[in-house]
Amino acid sequence: MTDAYAVFGNPIAHSKSPLIHAAFARQTGQDIVYSALPAPLDGFVEAVAVFRRQGGCGANVTVPFKEQAYALATRLSPRAQAAGAVNTFRFESDDLYGDNTDGAGLVQDLTANLGLDLAGKRILLMGAGGAARGVILPLLERQPDGVFIANRTASKAVGLAQVMGAGKSLSAGGYADLSGQFDLVINATAASLAGDLPPLPEAIFAPDALAYDMMYGKDTPFLSFARERGVRTADGLGMLVEQAAEAFLLWRGVRPETAPVIQLLRGV
Ligand code: NDP
Repeated sequence: MTDAYAVFGNPIAHSKSPLIHAAFARQTGQDIVYSALPAPLDGFVEAVAVFRRQGGCGANVTVPFKEQAYALATRLSPRAQAAGAVNTFRFESDDLYGDNTDGAGLVQDLTANLGLDLAGKRILLMGAGGAARGVILPLLERQPDGVFIANRTASKAVGLAQVMGAGKSLSAGGYADLSGQFDLVINATAASLAGDLPPLPEAIFAPDALAYDMMYGKDTPFLSFARERGVRTADGLGMLVEQAAEAFLLWRGVRPETAPVIQLLRGV
């Protein structure tokens, strides 16, 4: 029997996850079907329960349900525990196992696809929401010189850094607190969705810096700002495919090749 998986979000119609997982399944010979399922804003728990009762084997979870998914899981991976958010469920006979593959996806994209060695780098992470939270520890594991979390609401960034173990390698504040230059600037805010640019200092980028926007699918004010200053840029499509590959590995025990799927989505 074909194993069923799904992604839950609201909205969800735009999701590229069905395309990505269908490509992984073809490539690895796995017999699965993967659908994008809408869940009402007040009906996430019920939607997951129905899918599980109908024989679903696992699911991805996206905006705005990752925190609810964390609360719903009965067993958590260490990285989901640390992130305080779940983007991948595996339905087990006795447990609803929750994992978070976003951070691993970002780090894999930065290191394997974009060729960046994070050790010793100065990293600026903009944003203190769910996406930022999930990537802090995976970034710190790569031994950067430091990670500074900057957020519009500075107190939220400071609180997040405290929870994640603020110290020599991790600090936080508002955009007005930024000083010096960064080798890697990651936009994990929702500013791009509104066509906004966080208020970055003019000289924020170190020579040979990379500007990374987690958003994908359209050019963003942040990436334009970086390009106009001669800085190398990348969008979040690679992260999307890499976090999906990590979920596929958890479900099927096989890691798909991501490069051809990234190429497929870029239409090249
Ligand atoms: P949240 O809503 O949890 O967080 C939003 C963050 O953006 C907050 O820190 C908020 O600041 C900040 N923000 C919102 N508007 C502005 C603005 N105009 N100027 C400056 N800061 C702003 O969102 P998520 O963390 O879930 O998602 C953030 C982004 O990451 C989205 O674009 C999402 O699509 C993308 N993403 C991409 C993934 C991928 O695989 N490529 C995976 C996950 C997310 P404040 O606290 O002050 O409100």
